[in-house]
Amino acid sequence: MINKVFTAKQLDEKDPLSCKADAFLLPKNTIYLDGNSLGPLPKNAEKRASEVVKMQWGESLITSWNKHQWISLPQQVGDKIGTLVGAKQGQVICCDSISINLFKVLSAALKMHPERKVIATTRDNFPTDIYMVQGLLDLLGDDYSIRYVDESNISAQLTDDIAVLMLTQVNFRSGFKLDMKAITEQAQSKGILTLWDLAHSAGAFPVYLDDCNVDFAVGCTYKYLNGGPGAPAFVYVARRHQARYKQPLSGWMGHNSPFSFSPDYTPDTSVKQNLCGTPGIIGMSILDAALDVFDDVSLKAIDEKSKKLQAFFIVEAKRASLLEELKVVSPPLDNRGSQIAFAHEDAYAICQAWIAQGVIADFRAPNILRIGFAPLYLSFADIEKAVMSLAAIIKEKRYDQAIFKQRQSVT
Ligand SMILES: *Cc1c(COP(=O)(O)O)cnc(C)c1O
Repeated sequence: MINKVFTAKQLDEKDPLSCKADAFLLPKNTIYLDGNSLGPLPKNAEKRASEVVKMQWGESLITSWNKHQWISLPQQVGDKIGTLVGAKQGQVICCDSISINLFKVLSAALKMHPERKVIATTRDNFPTDIYMVQGLLDLLGDDYSIRYVDESNISAQLTDDIAVLMLTQVNFRSGFKLDMKAITEQAQSKGILTLWDLAHSAGAFPVYLDDCNVDFAVGCTYKYLNGGPGAPAFVYVARRHQARYKQPLSGWMGHNSPFSFSPDYTPDTSVKQNLCGTPGIIGMSILDAALDVFDDVSLKAIDEKSKKLQAFFIVEAKRASLLEELKVVSPPLDNRGSQIAFAHEDAYAICQAWIAQGVIADFRAPNILRIGFAPLYLSFADIEKAVMSLAAIIKEKRYDQAIFKQRQSVT
């Protein structure tokens, strides 16, 4: 796709998103290839942080729940996220973490399918997704089980004893991207409810939840949506299921009338039922502001630039003879999300040495160097510099030092 005659400078000049980097506060002399793990700080998020703390909490105290509409923030932010994942209003709510939201949705989905006892997922799914199923199964007892399907041909492994098919659209290690529309359709033809995890999709490329007729989805907001560390996650419940949907974490904020303080729980019949306890308003306000970065850009443009950045990375890496050392373990560009994974036995030390040079990527056990491409703030010049730095580290074995091999608690 990238013609070698284009230099990084020429590609940057033609880039319609080049001005968006200015919306972020990025540290100088850092190239950030880890926006797929924790997005950087948008300028207006920083502004909102001080506004919500000083002006709202500080000045208006408890009256802010009405005055600054804190009470409807989860729906308001949910709808904003909805526009980025192809969901019409009233189907997405912002709350809790992916892990907790998975518990809610899986429980509710099993209840909608009482005759079926199997949750299917891929063995290579993100561990927390699997752990949450394991915890739920423990609670439900021996009738229920988890079944692993191979991600290479999911449709062929779907049988009509499966209640829920829980899939992450983009594999967190390899970047392999599943065909949401086809798989959802195949699953539904067997009466299976679908639950999609959009952790590595939301904000990276267009997602079409409504058009794909997805049943449920969850996602986080601190990766490509740049909501900040521990920013609240989101849940999508297709409108057609909302009347029947009943999740077990029946906290007061999911009650249809929380301020009647009734001793009996009456669930809200909208997506709002997913709320449990009091929402974290500060974090959600910061996220709300962070999402404004997407107001004037299309996800299609983001996706197109991501593909160009990725192709350019590979071209440059080949030119630096890096691909003899680093084995690409991601599928081809059209079948992957916004990341490339490379295998190397010293991937951890290489990643640490790269970070020491100002290029931040990440390591995923056992041997993966994972590079995320977030087109809102990355330039082609960044990619060129990052590859040059990596080439020097590998060719000169600069990573072969004790300090780079010492494992930290977060990798
Ligand atoms: C990042 C990620 C998560 C994180 O879950 P939290 O509960 O929000 O910490 C879950 N699933 C996938 C696929 C992820 O990539």
